[in-house]
Amino acid sequence: VLFLQGGATSQFGMIPMNLLGQKTQADYINTGIWSKKAIAEAKRYAQVNVVASTEAENFTRVPRADELNLSAEAAYLHYTSNETIGGLEFDYIPDAGQTPLVVDMSSDILSQPVEVSRFGLIYAGAQKNIGPAGLTVVIVREDLLGQALPTTPTMYDYKVHADADSMHNTPPTFAWYLAGLVFKWLKAQGGVEGIAEINLRKARKLYAAIDASDFYANPIALPNRSIMNVPFTLADTQLESRFLVEAEAAGLLNLQGHRSVGGMRASIYNAVSETAVEALIEFMQHFEKTRA
Ligand code: PMP
Repeated sequence: VLFLQGGATSQFGMIPMNLLGQKTQADYINTGIWSKKAIAEAKRYAQVNVVASTEAENFTRVPRADELNLSAEAAYLHYTSNETIGGLEFDYIPDAGQTPLVVDMSSDILSQPVEVSRFGLIYAGAQKNIGPAGLTVVIVREDLLGQALPTTPTMYDYKVHADADSMHNTPPTFAWYLAGLVFKWLKAQGGVEGIAEINLRKARKLYAAIDASDFYANPIALPNRSIMNVPFTLADTQLESRFLVEAEAAGLLNLQGHRSVGGMRASIYNAVSETAVEALIEFMQHFEKTRA
């Protein structure tokens, strides 16, 4: 387990640099904005095979296991378990056979239990469920270390960090410290199992409220709805700015969807309480009643 810097974005480059080895190709699944960023960066180092994409369906679902067109020559298979902006989450772990599986878990790590042994590498920027930005967690299988491309900067070589217990240079000490406090807090919630129960309840309640209304909508296929990021639209887009102003007055902040997709988005990470989600639902119902 490595504690690095540079955010998940640095991993988009570090992964091909460190995992290609003697190979020149890598497989990627495209499920949205973050997959695309990972793909674009990997193309600087590798021949990228996009082995499945749901772009033609506007990323309203993830590809099924039988749609993955894996290549024999790939050094690894990369996917994004939760598309933070699209609100799209995998409901299964892809099977890449002997090929190492690499996952960007930036926005769903620690939200529910995961079989870590299925992966060659898991990475996540800390700033959703772990701690403040500035810390990046990489969990990498030991046999994948030590094959960085010769041009890899020292700071980008996983083995250098593994050998130095993530202290090759001055680490972001305050971010580490705060992450430690968050891990203790998480244990007190019953660990990942405990928080998963709460997260599932939060998400179910919010989606149920959206589905019960003709005024709010979420386009994602039911099994792929994210339990962390819940995007929703209003039947009348003209009411969006009023929704945001009134929500803010009710103490509900940061509900504006990403500028690339519009609409609303409730990011209900581990730190967001069930009470907060209930307050949002209550506000949404009140807004619909008074403004729709
Ligand atoms: N991947 C995903 C899924 C993300 O949500 C984000 C950040 N929102 C990133 C990568 C980029 O992370 P960072 O800002 O830590 O570079």
